[in-house]
Amino acid sequence: MNALILKIAFVVYAIGISVIRKPHERRNKQNIVASNHKGTLEKVLLIIVALGFMVLPAIYLLTPFLSFANFNLPLYAHILGIILIIPTLWLFYRSHKDLGKNWSVTLEIREEHKIVDSGVYKYIRHPMYSALWIGGVIQFLLLNNYIAGLSGIITFGLLYLFRVNNEEKMMIKEFGQEYEDYIKKTKRIIPFVH
Ligand code: SAH
Repeated sequence: MNALILKIAFVVYAIGISVIRKPHERRNKQNIVASNHKGTLEKVLLIIVALGFMVLPAIYLLTPFLSFANFNLPLYAHILGIILIIPTLWLFYRSHKDLGKNWSVTLEIREEHKIVDSGVYKYIRHPMYSALWIGGVIQFLLLNNYIAGLSGIITFGLLYLFRVNNEEKMMIKEFGQEYEDYIKKTKRIIPFVH
């Protein structure tokens, strides 16, 4: 498919992600943080993810610097990338809506924090991370460049691997048996599978 169409599709997806997140970021700024679990590793990983999901794609889209690493994929891969945009944005939207005041970009517990186990959280504990994993796949399918295309999934993969256990440990420390029971009833990122 024409590279321009793919780039436009990616920009639409990326704008969708930030438009969905913005109001939650603004609202939750006012919520008081009761305990912060953001260590140095977490801070570094957040910067790396911003690089992989935003900075490298922007360099690819706006400059010729990464063109030495371009590759091509068959048409069906491009179509799949475009088709995945809508369900991914929906899942990203729903998980923010379901978490509501309990959402934050990093590992922290807010005042009046409650466990959310309804909506998409009824089936999986980390639907937002599921959306971002698929987001990484979309980036690979639409930005046909070894650096800008793969940077999203690689950097998010690192964040996920280092964070998910710590996040669950933090929730158990905070909510004890209630979160342990929730773990028993749900999978992590793929309903009924994992
Ligand atoms: N891992 C979840 C949430 C990501 S946002 C997902 O992928 O959908 C990260 C913050 O959400 C964590 O710092 C924690 O405070 C909060 N959180 C995670 N799971 C939660 C749950 N089931 N209920 C309430 N808050 C939760």
